[in-house]
Amino acid sequence: MKVSELGEFGLIERLSKLIPINDKDVVVGFGDDTACINVNGQLLLLTGDIQVENRHFIKDKIDPIDLGWKLISSNVSDVVACGGIPRWGLISLGLPKDLEYEFIHNVYKGFKQALDYYKMFIIGGNTSSSSEIILDFFLVGETERFVSRSGAKPDQAIFISDEIGMSRAGLELLLMGKSSYEDFEKRLIKFHTRPKARIDLQYKIQKYAESCIDISDGLVGDLNHISEKSKVKIIIEKDKLPLNDDLKKYCEKYNKNIYDYILYGGEDYQLAFSVKNENKKYFENIFEIGVVQEGKGIYLKDKENLIKLEPKGFEHL
Ligand code: MG
Ligand code: MG
Ligand code: MG
Repeated sequence: MKVSELGEFGLIERLSKLIPINDKDVVVGFGDDTACINVNGQLLLLTGDIQVENRHFIKDKIDPIDLGWKLISSNVSDVVACGGIPRWGLISLGLPKDLEYEFIHNVYKGFKQALDYYKMFIIGGNTSSSSEIILDFFLVGETERFVSRSGAKPDQAIFISDEIGMSRAGLELLLMGKSSYEDFEKRLIKFHTRPKARIDLQYKIQKYAESCIDISDGLVGDLNHISEKSKVKIIIEKDKLPLNDDLKKYCEKYNKNIYDYILYGGEDYQLAFSVKNENKKYFENIFEIGVVQEGKGIYLKDKENLIKLEPKGFEHL
């Protein structure tokens, strides 16, 4: 059997059963945005992410500064989705022997920008030669309360932290490889190349979110993780989904359906989370898009119609 036949989630499920966790200090193991451990009363969050050349990026098509920025941001996003702040990272490099120094120098410039922005440090790691560029980042964060994927309960409201869908449009624009781009297209590309993890919402998520996930694979796919872990149904109200102006222009110009981008686009690194009604007041200036109910699955409410949405998030294998 090939690993690709199992798919990313099937593979993780199989492998994690081979190494059962039996440690009272592990609060959460596999299956959330981060793992969580209790070290003498302090909750630590552990997470990792890898960028592989020709899989996640193409060397001649990416600005290495953006690559560095994005690797840190995607990890910080997972920590924030669990209510935490990022603290310490380790970076492991696999580099082809003939790689020009300038490329990795610029990746580190991107790291520095992100480390300053998120107020954290890289304190170690490892280096090896390899046939393709591999950047593997491991991050430790801290929290006072672990916000899992499994805390959604009927009657809670579903929020997203901002407009979404722009990153996928930005990626498509980049892949078009045009010699010039309109201003709105440049802005969409930036959503893809320079995503900002929502560190500004960290405190409110830690205090008032009952469940939370970061939108890396697409809204429906990621909400489906909350739905499965929390054993609830989630209704998204179509009228409440925010429409980004530049994404609207993009969809008009290239004849696309904007809801494909909002529901299934990935790599926005915004947060989707559930909140008790009495705590909705803390999230007034962001977007309430739906509600949690008893049952299972993700549904879109369009006027009086209820449409079942199948998750088709990005699988990495
Ligand atoms: Mg995540
Ligand atoms: Mg991640
Ligand atoms: Mg979470």
